[in-house]
Amino acid sequence: MSILLIHTGGTIGMVQTAQGFAPRTGIVEEAVADLLAKGEVTGPIEILRLDPLIDSAQATPEDWRRVAQSIHDASGKHEAFVVTHGTDTLAYTAAALCLALPGLEKPVIVTGAMLPLTVAGTDGRDNLIAALNVARTAGPGVRVQFGGQLLHGARVRKSHSQAFDAFEAATSDQPPLMPAESFGLNAVQRHKVGILSVAPGCCMALFAAAAEVCDGLVLRCFGSGTAPDTPEMRAALQAACAREVPVLAVSQCPEGGMRLGTYAAGQVLQDTGVVDGRDMSPEMAFAKMQFALSLTPDFEARRDFLATPQCGEMLAP
Ligand code: ASP
Repeated sequence: MSILLIHTGGTIGMVQTAQGFAPRTGIVEEAVADLLAKGEVTGPIEILRLDPLIDSAQATPEDWRRVAQSIHDASGKHEAFVVTHGTDTLAYTAAALCLALPGLEKPVIVTGAMLPLTVAGTDGRDNLIAALNVARTAGPGVRVQFGGQLLHGARVRKSHSQAFDAFEAATSDQPPLMPAESFGLNAVQRHKVGILSVAPGCCMALFAAAAEVCDGLVLRCFGSGTAPDTPEMRAALQAACAREVPVLAVSQCPEGGMRLGTYAAGQVLQDTGVVDGRDMSPEMAFAKMQFALSLTPDFEARRDFLATPQCGEMLAP
């Protein structure tokens, strides 16, 4: 069984520099050669390095598209895919890959490390071994292998900035892929998507500005779906709706999700056509908005796409 490992950058393949950890070519390649030589993993494994290697803080939807395109183009040649990625935006890329590869019939395993392969005590080696081995047995879909856990790619979040088990994910009955009649590629483009959190007495001018400049907006609401119901907030959300800017609401709570309509204080969201993101993660909400804007020009079709579960990312309405 042939595996394609796509190396995008991130801590796993970094070295210490005067400015802090930075990517260097050859590190992941050397580690894979060593694991093969020691029989920790089995080949064949082909490695594709995406140039330049980046700290995932620099990633954009164009990078999501490059990874997805590489998987799509190599699908006739390989049975499974491993993506090595920086942890900071790994959850966004995993979410995007779920949406980018409709009809995916093979496993895509995303991994990384909290400490570089070049540093004593690295978790990168174990993560790489686990990812390459699980790629041989996992079912179709996008999953994250990290810190001994195999997690749903559409639900995963970075929850710890230091610990080796830095990720967690809610579970889902749906596999982490978009069902489709045949395998394809949803080509995402970068749109002006804003992500704004509400806070008590927060600056309302930000919401008005976002409604004017953004193509799509993710609104991180309180609890089960409330927001400050002020004239400024109403005006901003109405302006977004009038400009046909989709607004997708998710909860600031890591668990439980939205229940729009529970509180009168959430009425402002319902009155202004905000889409209920239910229990979707903010990372998925951001990625899903980029895809909604890329896949159709129609405002109602975009809102439908956002409101509909696509790949196990949210509870069904
Ligand atoms: N800043 C790094 C990155 O996301 C963090 C990591 O990989 O752990 O690329």
